[in-house]
Amino acid sequence: MKRTLITAQNIWRRRGFSWPFSLLGSSVRCWNTKIPRGLVVEPSQSCTGTCAGCSRPADPAVLEPEQLDRWLTASPAKPVTIHFSGKHSDPLASPLLKDLTETAIQNSSMFSISTIGLGITPEHAKLPVDRWIFSLPAATDKSWRAIRGDGRFEEALRAIETVQKTGRRMIEVVLTLWKPSSDDREAFSRLAEERGWKYRKTVFGRFDPTGHHVGKLTNLALEDPDCPYRLDRNGKLYLKNIPRSCPLAGCLFLDAMGTLHPCPFTGNESPHLKEPSQDAWNTAKQWTEHKRNRSYPACEWCP
Ligand code: SF4
Ligand code: SF4
Repeated sequence: MKRTLITAQNIWRRRGFSWPFSLLGSSVRCWNTKIPRGLVVEPSQSCTGTCAGCSRPADPAVLEPEQLDRWLTASPAKPVTIHFSGKHSDPLASPLLKDLTETAIQNSSMFSISTIGLGITPEHAKLPVDRWIFSLPAATDKSWRAIRGDGRFEEALRAIETVQKTGRRMIEVVLTLWKPSSDDREAFSRLAEERGWKYRKTVFGRFDPTGHHVGKLTNLALEDPDCPYRLDRNGKLYLKNIPRSCPLAGCLFLDAMGTLHPCPFTGNESPHLKEPSQDAWNTAKQWTEHKRNRSYPACEWCP
């Protein structure tokens, strides 16, 4: 709650006097029309990371700002929040990030970017982002190397510093626990103290059934008692506790091809929409019920 209030205070200061009114207006429009209030956007299919064994598309798609604008213009209610993130990709890999950011800022009341940080430039750090979220897979060089297979841990720490130097206050650092980094909680706390990371949290890595990325079975911290996954007697993975609802029930996901999905984890095996239109949004808002019931194939692994 305190974090939300501080975020709001910072955005108000940055966006000006009328910001609370536009926030209230867009929230009411979403509520009236039942259009989900959040939009997660994948700026590019490419990634600035170099993890060993990660298979990247040979010709990665890049989301055109015009396509993002077409979706937003067609919506009966602009999203309250727009969040740039990746699905096996990273927003910083997009050469169009500045234009995409401008489109997002003009069409939402809160705008955030979630990134692995690698490849950040001073120009990226100056973008008018309301909230930066940096995702680390490890808090020591040793566990980073075991997960990523490269030696870019210090570079990731410097990336956070690059944004800290701009004076931004809303910077959150998230440690994702994998098998090699499951003992990194203390090291993470120490780093946070030393480096002045005020907002931080720890989460567990999510299973990726494709097995091509970090989320493969062998990387899960299954021996940690708090890990949401367990293996049954036949070696099949299952969720220890099935959450009651969808953690992203209030969001939709626009991928780098410009296709709208229920969430970043559902693919073409679940409903998706390619052409922006008011009808498309009206169809998409009906997905919320299916999400709440966790009825998509990807929900099986969703903690
Ligand atoms: S595993 Fe993830 S972070 Fe690493 S290169 Fe692949 S997409 Fe990027
Ligand atoms: S996989 Fe299912 S439960 Fe998880 S965010 Fe997507 S729709 Fe929601």
